[in-house]
Amino acid sequence: MKIWMNGKSVDEKDAKVSVFDHGLLYGDGVFEGIRAYNGRVFMCDEHIDRLYRSAQAITLTIPMTKKAMAKAVVEACKANRIRNGYVRLVVTRGIGSLGLNPYTCKKAQVIIIAAGIQLYPKKLYDTGLAIVTVGTTRNQAEAVNPRIKSLNYLNNILAKIEAINAGAMECIMLNSQGYVAEASGDNIFIVKGDTLITPPSWCGALEGITRNVVMKLAPEQGYKVKEDVLTRYDLYTADEMFLTGTAAEIISVVNVDRRVIGNGKPGPVTRELGRHFHAFAQSSGTPIT
Ligand code: PMP
Repeated sequence: MKIWMNGKSVDEKDAKVSVFDHGLLYGDGVFEGIRAYNGRVFMCDEHIDRLYRSAQAITLTIPMTKKAMAKAVVEACKANRIRNGYVRLVVTRGIGSLGLNPYTCKKAQVIIIAAGIQLYPKKLYDTGLAIVTVGTTRNQAEAVNPRIKSLNYLNNILAKIEAINAGAMECIMLNSQGYVAEASGDNIFIVKGDTLITPPSWCGALEGITRNVVMKLAPEQGYKVKEDVLTRYDLYTADEMFLTGTAAEIISVVNVDRRVIGNGKPGPVTRELGRHFHAFAQSSGTPIT
């Protein structure tokens, strides 16, 4: 496998990071996960925009333009003959001293890994997920704003550990006020009648690219979409529920905290949106040429 690193395509075995990189020492950096479908990079500009916004929020200067970054993502796919796959874009603070001070790091490092991903077993897309709400609350906006897709994912990892220990593959994180924020690595939607509801980002959700695609596609299929505050009551009484994410795509949730959601099977709205999402993903994006 070839890894794109700071302007060069290098062999995987030579793609190494210094132990003094603050990305490693402190989780100081930002990242993106992007999909390639059918020889195109899906929502490439949207991911790159979010990457630069995350970087700006932590005063990290990415040493290349957005245009050059988009070109590098395509190059990384080409170098690995990826036509359908997953791209991990990582920007670390770079090499500095052992102290916290990010200003000792002279230059950010840019790493692009173009590979594959399978987040959930295929079968779960037919049966739906059983998930749990966990005690680890989502980071507060005043601390590490969840809108920043930073390399420090400990908040999400602690939640994921709780989920796995409870026998679930994913969880729902609430914010410190008890409102639903998101899953540990995905956004959440509920369906009530003909309306899709997802928590606003101020409740502690990342502004997911897949979430935005669903919010755009759903009205075209005749559904209403709104951002609203959700409590566990809303989850338990939902007709349908699903998670969205670049790796997960759209996956139904049929059980929360051992309570059956809807009729316990992936619902018609989720399945319809899933079909439209796939059709859209297969036919749009930046060509890998
Ligand atoms: N929330 C979190 C915490 C995430 O890490 C992700 C990405 N895996 C998402 C939501 C979904 O965002 P996107 O659709 O942009 O992948």
